[in-house]
Amino acid sequence: MASCTYDHIVVGAGAAGCVLASRLSEDPQRRVLLLEAGPDMPTGTEPSSIRSPFPGALGAGDFSWPGLHANVFAPGSGAARAMRPLIQGKVMGGSSTINGMMAQRGIPLDYDRWAAMGAGGWDWRSVLPWFNKLESDQDHGGPLHGNTGPLPIRRETSAQWPPFARAVTQAIVEQGYRWFEDFNADFDDGICPSPLSNLPDRRVGVATAYLGKDVRARPNLTILSNSLVIALRWNGTRIAGVQRSDGATFLGAEVILTAGAIHTPALMLRAGIGCAQALDKLGIPVVLERRGVGRNLRNHLMIHLATHLHPKARQAQSATSWAFTVLRYSSGVADCPPADMQIFPINRTAWHALGSAIGALGLCLYQPVSVGSVTLTSADPATPPVIRFNMLADARDTKRLTDGLLRMLHILAMPEVARLHDEVFIPNKAAAAKIASVTWRNRAIAQALALAMQYPPWRRRLLRGRILDYSRLRTDPGQQLAAMWLGASHVHHVCGTCRMGSVEDPDAVVDTQGRVIGVGNLRIADASVMPCNVSANTHLPVIMVAEKMAAHILAASSQHAP
Ligand SMILES: Cc1cc2nc3c(=O)[nH]c(=O)nc-3n(C[C@H](O)[C@H](O)[C@H](O)COP(=O)(O)OP(=O)(O)OC[C@H]3O[C@@H](n4cnc5c(N)ncnc54)[C@H](O)[C@@H]3O)c2cc1C
Repeated sequence: MASCTYDHIVVGAGAAGCVLASRLSEDPQRRVLLLEAGPDMPTGTEPSSIRSPFPGALGAGDFSWPGLHANVFAPGSGAARAMRPLIQGKVMGGSSTINGMMAQRGIPLDYDRWAAMGAGGWDWRSVLPWFNKLESDQDHGGPLHGNTGPLPIRRETSAQWPPFARAVTQAIVEQGYRWFEDFNADFDDGICPSPLSNLPDRRVGVATAYLGKDVRARPNLTILSNSLVIALRWNGTRIAGVQRSDGATFLGAEVILTAGAIHTPALMLRAGIGCAQALDKLGIPVVLERRGVGRNLRNHLMIHLATHLHPKARQAQSATSWAFTVLRYSSGVADCPPADMQIFPINRTAWHALGSAIGALGLCLYQPVSVGSVTLTSADPATPPVIRFNMLADARDTKRLTDGLLRMLHILAMPEVARLHDEVFIPNKAAAAKIASVTWRNRAIAQALALAMQYPPWRRRLLRGRILDYSRLRTDPGQQLAAMWLGASHVHHVCGTCRMGSVEDPDAVVDTQGRVIGVGNLRIADASVMPCNVSANTHLPVIMVAEKMAAHILAASSQHAP
């Protein structure tokens, strides 16, 4: 049983953990340990489904935590109640290694809202330097961008847009939306190129960007993969270290939890930090009553409308481009913030032949009103936490999604787009997930389905119950709701479960430097600390959080140094 002393033990090598380990170990005096439950595949050894800039196995659940399911919809919302799988990366780089690489910051109002909720020092002006630090923007410069950071950000040029994505973009512009160039520095509504965190020929996740060969070679950085942390070790009211599933204990001056917005609160609850009543019921000794742990689970909500593309509208199966343009718009629904919605075209929906034949529009609701939770049913670390999103509990969310659905149908019906595709349908994501992994068997099944989809009677048979009739939907609110319930699903942008705030706030879990309120030597620095949703996919915001927290930690310990 190994036992060692480190200055910082970082639990979870995802988007946040890799950044923390990299930045803290820049100081050769600090001994940093990074523990990751999943496997390590240093750059160059990863499978093509990860390496490709086309997110080959997105939705497959490869390299994801097994057994994670969520109640997506609130009871009584009218939507199907079934539990749906939730994908969260379990691999070096975490979800950053398997994500869609869309690289968005959100809008200044998002961070000003964080500050207003008690996260002083996290307003837009304060977070911008950290967004700049993380990136190396290939297309834009100036005070709103960084050009020397580890993560490349780029956009596909218009010459690379395939026909369906091009036609959708033109149709949106024809509707009067403003065209602009830089999604991450211009925050009004309009359509512009979609920023991506990759290079034209490969994914660049945090494990590549922040844990390159030179960083891994640092003598003061230890990286242990396949290392599931099952418990925090207490010394009075302070944390002294962590325990791995094989019994090994690692001791450190400080433990930093970066296990993501599902597993970080689970580790906290098992350590006896949470709602005392709930912990009592599970027989977990309560060390600190902190009711906010696991509450305030935030996520985004999405609907895809898919369509069978005519051959002239398709993207070559070998082409690795993925996201081209994105429309940001404000729903205008009362009490909802601006920039709460996005629509984007996808020309090729999967890596195989069927994916090449099917295009889609994605609609994402970035500021849902509904809030969920992460709880435990058992103290046993092998039992996955209970995840509730409770989506569609609020009429404003339903309204914004049905309105977005009609907007997408309208775009798909515009003449320059309509001439490129057949019926519009709600995709069957559960069926798509079954053939999402890159295997020869799935390749063959997808090929056969792509062939069948070419023949209208077979296609309609395969899509029965899912084809939408725009003219009926336009006038029938009941049909609109039914389509929305059939198509709506959660995204993978979980956050907020150990939220940052003022130390006087009983619902806050960490202070503005990531220190767990009431516990010594324990910090949290991942998506869990976000006070509320941002109007963006969460990868860049999480990396920003980790960069800023790393700076706080370095500054705090150098102040205390003799
Ligand atoms: C399928 C998918 C697609 C996405 N697409 C996009 C996108 O296109 N754009 C975007 O901006 N965002 C996207 N995201 C979201 C983005 O990747 C996440 O917001 C971000 O990675 C969260 O960072 P994190 O560090 O909080 O958690 P994660 O990146 O999930 O990292 C947590 C890490 O902790 C490890 N861990 C957990 N528990 C333990 C334990 N007990 N012991 C040891 N290790 C542990 C996990 O294995 C994991 O490696 C996507 C996410 C997913 C899952």
